Order: sequence, then structure tokens, then C-alpha cells
Amino acid sequence: MATRAASHHTLYQVSTATALVQGIYQGAVRVGTLREHGDLGLGTFENLDGEMVIVDGQFFQARSDGSVRECNDDVLSPFAVITRFAPDAAVTLTQDPDLSHLSSGFDRLRHSDNIFFALRVDGHFDYVHARAMCRTKEGVPLVEAAAVQPEFEFRDVEGTLVGFWTPEYAKALNVPGYHLHFVSADRTRGGHLLQCRGAGLRLQIQREGDYHIALPETEDFLKADLRRDPAADLAKAEGEKK
Ligand code: ZN
Repeated sequence: MATRAASHHTLYQVSTATALVQGIYQGAVRVGTLREHGDLGLGTFENLDGEMVIVDGQFFQARSDGSVRECNDDVLSPFAVITRFAPDAAVTLTQDPDLSHLSSGFDRLRHSDNIFFALRVDGHFDYVHARAMCRTKEGVPLVEAAAVQPEFEFRDVEGTLVGFWTPEYAKALNVPGYHLHFVSADRTRGGHLLQCRGAGLRLQIQREGDYHIALPETEDFLKADLRRDPAADLAKAEGEKK
């Protein structure tokens, strides 16, 4: 609960991390519906057809062939997280030698490990390592799908990272820790962030005290076994390959 004086920031999410890990990829929500719940966020598309990047109210699909296109309202998503972004705090990092440094910058802006945070980074990146999921059959576990994901390296690129920090206790629902998606300023390149470097990057953060989950009523979600802990699979599927 936010205090009366503070504005009330709501994180709106469709489906759960466990469902995604289990291969529940049927489209559950239209982009047009997501649009009513915010202007910054991330997600994926029906049958895991690329990475969703939502910035300034525009919805982009970064696909495995390297293309990025703006989505129309009828496109379907099985998993998405979105908020109306009005940052509480900001900092400019003089140096960002890698993603762990960027994460530390956000760690210093977070005042708790027990609420959610929305994140945005803008600036010039020396290096971005990203990936975009390939269209995948329903029911193929995320770890298997992620093992064959195309990866991209971008150098000297202006762009924006958007995403969220999720508390460890919420790992069945959302990706714990930092989860960021990238789109270039010219909106031609993007994907799920694996690594980045830059200097003079501007970090903005917003606390999220309200958490709203819309559970899919698709047949696959209703019948899935969602009892297992997805944390190990998420770490493997969402991080940089070691
Ligand atoms: Zn992602």
C-alpha cells in the first residue's frame, strides 16, 4: 500500500513466470488491453514469437530474425508486465562497465527488497548483448526454447532499457531480480537484455506498491501443473549463457 501522500503505482501483469517456464504460450491478452494499463513494460508474444518492449506507450516486437516492428492492438501475448511510469528517483552513471554495475546503480536507488520496482535506462551504449525468442510450439519448456535463441550484439547504439526488479519471494509469479528489454532509439534493434556497457547512462526507478495479476483463462493455463519452483529454469533461460 502506498501512503496517502504518495502516488499509487500499479504493476499490471498477465500470467505467471511458472506458466511461461512450463511452456504456456497461448495468447491470453491483446496489446490493446495491455495499453490500458500503462506505458512501460515487457513481455512476450503468442507462441514465444519474440520479445515485447513497451516504451513511452509504444509496443514493439523484437523478433528472432533481428527485426523490430510496432505492434497493433490485436496482437496477442501470453505473458506481459506493464506500468504507468512516473519515476521516483534518477541517477546518471558516469561509467557502466557491465550489467552488474548497472544493477548496482539500481540497487542504490531501491530502498527495499520487498516491493517491486519499474526501471528505465536511457543513453548511449557501447555494447548491448540481447536475444529474441524464436516462435516455439506450445508446451516446449522455456529452458529448451531458450537454448536455441538467436542472440545479437549491438555496438555504439543509442537506446532504452525498460523492465522490472522483482522480489525473491515472488519468483513463482515474475522473474526474480532484474529483467530488462532493450530497444534502440531508432526502433530498429532490440530484445531481452543479456549484457550491456556504456557511460553516462541515465537510470530511473519507480516503486510499485500494488501488484495486479490477470490470470489467463486459456485452456493451457487452466490445465497446467504450476506447482514447481521455476527459479532455476528462469535463471538458465533468462541470463547470459555461461
Ligand atoms: Zn525478457
